[in-house]
Amino acid sequence: MNTDCPNVEKCPIFNGILKDRKMTTKSYQIQYCNGGELKYSKCKRFETKVKYGVCPPDLLPNSAMTLEQIAEKYGLTLNS
Ligand code: SF4
Repeated sequence: MNTDCPNVEKCPIFNGILKDRKMTTKSYQIQYCNGGELKYSKCKRFETKVKYGVCPPDLLPNSAMTLEQIAEKYGLTLNS
């Protein structure tokens, strides 16, 4: 059974903004991405994509913002 987040392959957290921060990336992978649905479903990137259909490239998995604050900051709508 695959317990990885369905967004792992395309998530820019791994090939974009954090590529020079291996320890941080590894920590996110353990805490969210490879931890099964109970964990990745708590990732703000995952939650944002589920609710709004997209996720800003620089949003971090452990962002303290609510989904509503994220939507306001990045101009996301339920139909975006
Ligand atoms: S950072 Fe979040 S959305 Fe990206 S792969 Fe990990 S759990 Fe999925």
